[in-house]
Amino acid sequence: MTKVKHTCLFKWDRSDVLRYKEKGNHFKDITRQLLYPGRPELPVQLRYFELAPRGHSTLERHHHVHMVMVIRGSGEVLVGNEIQKLESFDLVEIPPKTWHQFRATAGETFGFLCLVTVDRDRPELPNAEELAWLKQDPKVGGFIRYEAPLTPVGVQ
Ligand code: MN
Repeated sequence: MTKVKHTCLFKWDRSDVLRYKEKGNHFKDITRQLLYPGRPELPVQLRYFELAPRGHSTLERHHHVHMVMVIRGSGEVLVGNEIQKLESFDLVEIPPKTWHQFRATAGETFGFLCLVTVDRDRPELPNAEELAWLKQDPKVGGFIRYEAPLTPVGVQ
């Protein structure tokens, strides 16, 4: 692959638009496109995620790192116990083993590129104790959207 055509606004012809993860209620209204699948000489993947207005990603943590660049709309991200506003072309790094969750601003579609290594661990979801610990901080408690998944999740 040398070129992936941008076919229409925020769609690339590399991949179908996938619903992000198949099961669970710990995320909402999010799609994923795999833009670059990686190769041995460059073992990374570039994905594009898009959250519908009011959508959010999973509250999770893992050893692998995300490098994110917003390219559509605006939203917010929780990283550890910090909440940041994100606008188009802002960059944010999600460090290892750090709780994180992305949220679209109300009324706005929020899209970002996310770079990860091909070889990566599966995300961990908070247990009741960890969730209670996170919610000790009222601003974090007010931000996070979390309901226990109905089934174990093994998707990253
Ligand atoms: Mn993650």
